[in-house]
Amino acid sequence: MKIQTLTILGATGSIGSQTLDLVTRHPDRFEVYALTGHRKVEILAGQCRRFRPKVAVVADGEAARELKALLGQTNIEIRYGAQALEEISAESSVTTVVAGIVGSAGLRPILAAAKAGKRILLANKEPLVMTGALLIDLAKLHGAKLLPTDSEHNAIFQSLPDNGDTSGVTRLILTASGGPFRQMSLEAMAKVTPAQACAHPTWTMGRKISVDSATLMNKTLEVIEAHYLFGIPADRIEILVHPQSIIHSLVEYKDGSQLAQLGSPDMRTPIANVLAWPERIDAGVKKLELASIGQLTFEKPDYKRFPALGLGYEALKLGGTAPAILNAANEVAVEAFLAGGLRFTDIAHTAADVLAKLPSTPALDLATIMAADMQAREMAAGMIRALA
Ligand code: NAD
Ligand code: MG
Repeated sequence: MKIQTLTILGATGSIGSQTLDLVTRHPDRFEVYALTGHRKVEILAGQCRRFRPKVAVVADGEAARELKALLGQTNIEIRYGAQALEEISAESSVTTVVAGIVGSAGLRPILAAAKAGKRILLANKEPLVMTGALLIDLAKLHGAKLLPTDSEHNAIFQSLPDNGDTSGVTRLILTASGGPFRQMSLEAMAKVTPAQACAHPTWTMGRKISVDSATLMNKTLEVIEAHYLFGIPADRIEILVHPQSIIHSLVEYKDGSQLAQLGSPDMRTPIANVLAWPERIDAGVKKLELASIGQLTFEKPDYKRFPALGLGYEALKLGGTAPAILNAANEVAVEAFLAGGLRFTDIAHTAADVLAKLPSTPALDLATIMAADMQAREMAAGMIRALA
C-alpha cells in the first residue's frame, strides 16, 4: 500500500470534512498536503491545527490574514485566490485531489488536477456538467483517474464491470430520495423557505446541493454527470424515486440482471470507496440492517411537479454548451432563492427559460464554455430582477 498525499478542495464543507474523518481513521494510508476553506476560516483553522497540512488556501487576502491570526506562529503556508487552488491541485507531491468545492468555482482546480494526471475524487459535479467530454478527454490524455464520488455514480461505478466494458449494459437507473417536498403540491412548494428546502430527509449536505435536491435539479445534473462518466446515452439513463436512500443506483444488463449498491445514507461510504480504490477500508458507517428497515419503496418521478427533472435530458439533447447554460442559470437561481429573492418554484422556471432562450454552440474549448456560462448567468439574473 502506497501512502496517498491529498489536496482537499473544499475541506471545510460536507464532503471535505467527511473525507477528513476518513483520513483520521486511516493515518497509515493518507497524508494531507493542502486544505482549502474559502471563507470558512475558523473551521479551516481548526482543521489546520489537527491535520498539519503544508498549505492552506482561502478566498482572499483578508481571509488569509484572519487565518494567520488564528493560527499564530505556524509553518503552514497560507495562500489565497483561484490561482493557488490550481497550483495545489497540480503540485507534484500530491497523488490525489478531493474535489469538494461546490459549483463552478471547482472547475479550474479540477482541470489543473486532470492535466497533472492526478487521482481525482469527483464529488463536485457542476464542473463535469459544464465541460463534459472536454474534462473526460483531458483526464484520459494525461492519465488522470476520475473516480465517481457522488453516491449514485459511485454505486454505478461499483456495479459496472471492472474492465470498463459497458457493451452489456442496457440502462443506468439513478435513484433519488425525492427530497423534502416529494409529496407537496406545487401551490405549497411556491411558498417554501430556504430553511425548509435545506432540511433534506436522508442526507446532510451543503446548502446549494440541498436546494438542488429539493427541486430535483440535482438528479437531472446527475443524469448529465452519468452520461459523461460512463458514456451511456441519456435515453438509457432513468430516474427512480426511492425515498429510503438505501439503494444508491442500479445498472441493468442485457440478460435482465440489475446490479445495485446498497448502504446506509452516509457519504463516507462512497468517499471511502474511492479513497481506497481498488482496495476497501473501514468507513465508520452504521451497518445496514435491512430487517430493521423493513421496506424499500419505489415511485416514478413526477416531471410535472418537478419540472427541473426534464432539463438535464433537454440539455443533453441540445448538446454543446447547453449543460453549462443549464448549470449556470441554476446556480444563479439557487443563490437568489437562498438570499430570499426568488420563489422556490421559480428556480426551475428560470433555468428552463434560460436553456430555451440561449442558443447552445459546440463546446469546443474552455473559452466557449465560459462565455456561455457568463451569458447564462446574466440572462438568469435579468429574469430574476424582472420577477422581483
Ligand atoms: P458545502 O457547501 O458543504 O462545502 C463547499 C466547500 O467549498 C466549502 O469548503 C467552501 O468553503 C468551499 N467553497 C465555496 N465556495 C467556494 C468558492 N467560490 N471558491 C472556493 N471554494 C469555495 O458543499 P458540499 O455539500 O460539501 O458539496 C460539495 C460538492 O460535492 C458539490 O458540488 C455537491 O454537489 C457535491 N456533492 C455533495 C454531496 C454531499 O453529501 N454533501 C453528495 C454528492 C455530491
Ligand atoms: Mg448524488
